[in-house]
Amino acid sequence: MGKKSDEKLIVKGKRLDGRELEELRPIEMKVGVVNRADGSAMVRFGDTQAVVAAYGPRELFSKRLQKVDKGILQCRYNMAPFSVTDRKSPGPDRRSKELSKVIRLALTPVLFLENFPKATLDVYVEIIQADGSTRVTGINAASIALANAGVEMKDLIAACSVGKIEDKLIADLCGKEDNNSEADMAVAMLGRKKSITLLQMDGTLTKDEIMQLLKMAEENCGKIYEMQKKVLKEIYRDVEE
Ligand code: ADP
Repeated sequence: MGKKSDEKLIVKGKRLDGRELEELRPIEMKVGVVNRADGSAMVRFGDTQAVVAAYGPRELFSKRLQKVDKGILQCRYNMAPFSVTDRKSPGPDRRSKELSKVIRLALTPVLFLENFPKATLDVYVEIIQADGSTRVTGINAASIALANAGVEMKDLIAACSVGKIEDKLIADLCGKEDNNSEADMAVAMLGRKKSITLLQMDGTLTKDEIMQLLKMAEENCGKIYEMQKKVLKEIYRDVEE
């Protein structure tokens, strides 16, 4: 991925929005944002915002898709037509199909699908605003939406993007940085164990840079994981009092 504009993205060690190289954008998390869903969440990283509604476990239709020995997880990633300034054409495209799949694979390891044969968990990831790193923002929201739905889970999944611009390693790429990056990686991992459930990379990196970026991703996923736990615990704060 070559550099596409001449604008400097790092000036005096700081990024365009004033962030340090390893710093995440301002993060906001909420659960229970879609009343009629079994569970839901909103996660915002700067100007990237995902709303997720989760349903189930519920009986899977059509019956021919049912698995007799386990349930399935179905995910749909969608970028709203108004999520980018130049209107995105609505409906599923190749990219959204791929992202739906990788989001499903990133979340599956923490679920007990064997506990609900013939059923489905449905996760709808809607990107309301897209300014880079939408897949990882969607995964962070999906993870807490499932927990909010009361789905039993081994752990939460935390995710973030990392990459390289102007020869510097950075975390949480915004859209402009993503467009002009020498490389970018999307990483999702189990909150406690840190096992990786999603790892995608574009561009060119040395092995050493990959290791440094994975460490940066792990540290930032740790921070995201703490926020995810906090927002989930807050729902029960009033119950405990
Ligand atoms: P991610 O959003 O997970 O980083 P990509 O690398 O595919 O995934 O996309 C990077 C960014 O490019 C998105 O976050 C969004 O800001 C922008 N983008 C992606 N698809 C489109 C599109 N169809 N129209 C306009 N902008 C898009």
